[in-house]
Amino acid sequence: MFKNEYLQGLYERVQKRNPNEPEFHQAVLEVLESLEPVIDRHPEYIRWGVIESIVEPERIIKFRVPWIDDKGNVQVNRGFRIQFNNAIGPYKGGIRFHPSVCESIIKFLGFEQTFKNSLTGLPIGGGKGGSDFDPKGKSDAEVMRFCQSFMTELQKYIGPDIDVPAGDIGVGAREIGYMYGQYKRTNGYEAGVLTGKGIPYGGSLVRKQATGFGLCYFTNEMLVDNGKSFKDATVVISGSGNVAIYACQKATEYGAKVVAMSDSNGYIYDANGIDLDAVKQIKEVERKRIKEYLNFHPDATYGEGSSNIWKIKCDIALPCATQNEISAESAQALVDNGCYAVAEGANMPSTPEAIKIFQNNGVFFGPAKAANAGGVATSALEMTQNSMRYSWTSEEVDAKLHQIMVNIYANASSAAKEYGMEGNLVAGANIAGFIKVAEAMLAQGVV
Ligand code: NDP
Repeated sequence: MFKNEYLQGLYERVQKRNPNEPEFHQAVLEVLESLEPVIDRHPEYIRWGVIESIVEPERIIKFRVPWIDDKGNVQVNRGFRIQFNNAIGPYKGGIRFHPSVCESIIKFLGFEQTFKNSLTGLPIGGGKGGSDFDPKGKSDAEVMRFCQSFMTELQKYIGPDIDVPAGDIGVGAREIGYMYGQYKRTNGYEAGVLTGKGIPYGGSLVRKQATGFGLCYFTNEMLVDNGKSFKDATVVISGSGNVAIYACQKATEYGAKVVAMSDSNGYIYDANGIDLDAVKQIKEVERKRIKEYLNFHPDATYGEGSSNIWKIKCDIALPCATQNEISAESAQALVDNGCYAVAEGANMPSTPEAIKIFQNNGVFFGPAKAANAGGVATSALEMTQNSMRYSWTSEEVDAKLHQIMVNIYANASSAAKEYGMEGNLVAGANIAGFIKVAEAMLAQGVV
């Protein structure tokens, strides 16, 4: 699989040491593959065990989360926080609440986060957390009791200069608010301990929009660099959560027509262009299923099965739901229908086979760790504002976010070129993200 014997051996050790963790293996494989030309130039990374250390989380915290539901029954979930790497700053990364959460998923996300955070150019390390708790169908009071129990344990391990969690799937402003309240109860006021907070208590303007907006800023750079643009392009966006909604808003502002969105049950297709106000009402206000869109627009269509969204003809695809949502078959369908650009809003939404299909067919491909870094970048701007006890205007935050995404595209693109893989943003993002962390680790000695 690898030309380099050292990388081959290391990858086999990762597989053996982390059995039954396919998502983590997949994320490590993708990064190590990109590093072949890097370690030819930098044998010191092998000599000083940098790559061996980078694939091993610094710390894995796993805990019980007991809580009481509305019927008075005790429920027990499992919580995780993986502090992956703090070579360049405090651990930073979201918390995911979804029934599929397990060690493999949190580990892959924490590993990816390390390189993503490095790419932002800001001083933040990599971490990730979550629980197999499912907020869907729970009352506000149940979500609150769960969040309080989760934070009662997590607060022992985090802090504004130690580890700063944020939101992810299933964790939005409501959950962050409840967790922040509990942290404050146990530790006193420390605004910078969580990001994605509400605006009245230390949140940053544009944080809610940041991942989706940032995805479009990055995609715009990629398109323009290749002689294309969002203007009049047809776009398909999977998911209808935080990232998807604001990607839809920005793509539309750029002049594109978004024709489809989804949730884990199915997808809606609206040839007239998605009515985002309707989607926001259904998802942000009512917390209902995307199918409800037909109540607003009976002329739209609904299809069962979220993966069928990739069969819709489009110019640009923005996967914004979850990992491995684009299989080889879905990638082929996109290519066959003339899709020429894919940028990942979700983390690792394309399988390795799907990425190969995009690359072999000349599809411009923006990998997650570069394309969706706008969320964490704006979280870091939230930390900055909390430290300064000051807040920037929407325009100021948005301008900084935009510049960060422009820089990420430029850095990923030039790293790919420097290492002989021009146009390969997967390799470019991995290399640019890796080198900064590797240099920091090297400088700090074997620790
Ligand atoms: P949300 O919980 O707000 O939305 C998730 C969306 O994805 C929902 O529409 C959900 O549908 C759908 N979805 C979740 N699981 C599946 C599944 N197994 N199959 C199909 N659809 C699914 O999460 P976010 O928008 O915050 O996150 C989306 C992705 O973006 C994740 O990969 C996350 O890691 C990534 N990301 C998020 C950032 C952020 O700032 N929020 C930052 C960077 C990356 P349903 O309601 O039916 O579950």
